[in-house]
Amino acid sequence: MSDNCLFCKIINGTIPADIVYQDDTVLAFKDINPQAPVHILVIPKRHIATLDDLTEADRADIGHLMERLAHVARAAGVAEKGYRTIINTRAHGGQEVFHIHAHILGGKPIGPMVAR
Ligand code: AMP
Ligand code: ZN
Repeated sequence: MSDNCLFCKIINGTIPADIVYQDDTVLAFKDINPQAPVHILVIPKRHIATLDDLTEADRADIGHLMERLAHVARAAGVAEKGYRTIINTRAHGGQEVFHIHAHILGGKPIGPMVAR
C-alpha cells in the first residue's frame, strides 16, 4: 500500500468504487469518467507505480491480472465484438494515477489508435 495513492484507497475501501471483480491479487472497477459504454480499470492489489517498475517478482501477478482482465471483459459482454486494452506509462503516456492499471474500453468501436 502507498499512503497517497488513490487506487490503494479504493483497494482498502477508503474511497468507494463500482467494483466488478476482485480476488486475492486483482481488483477491477468502473472508470469514474468513462470514455466508452464499457470502461473498466483492472489493477493489482499490490502497489506498483508504473509498467516500468515491474520486475521478475511481478510476473505471476501480472500474468494473472491479464488472464483476469480477459475474464472481466467477457463478463462485461464486450469480448465477442472486441475491446481495447490500454496501459499508460508516465507523463508522455498520459498516466494520471501512479498505480499500474489496465483500461478495458468497449461497447462501441473504439476507432483507430492514434496519438494526439
Ligand atoms: P490514466 O490516465 O491511465 O492514469 O487513467 C486514470 C483513470 O482513472 C482515468 O480514466 C480516470 O477517469 C480514472 N479515475 C480517477 N479517479 C477515479 C475513481 N475515484 N474511480 C474510478 N476511476 C477513477
Ligand atoms: Zn497504489
